[in-house]
Amino acid sequence: MDKIKIPPLDRKWIKCPYCGAKTVIYDNTALCSGVHIKCTRGCKREFEIIIKDGKQVL
Ligand SMILES: [Zn+2]
Repeated sequence: MDKIKIPPLDRKWIKCPYCGAKTVIYDNTALCSGVHIKCTRGCKREFEIIIKDGKQVL
């Protein structure tokens, strides 16, 4: 039986577009839109998390 190769996950931080504070961790398999979180470490503003092609779209 062949082993299924699992590509290594590249974990990155979602950063607040206003102040650059680290908020949540995602990996390169993530696909996300319509999720809003509040920046709790920095400016306390809400922003939408959009992840496309393994990258955060600001
Ligand atoms: Zn912020």
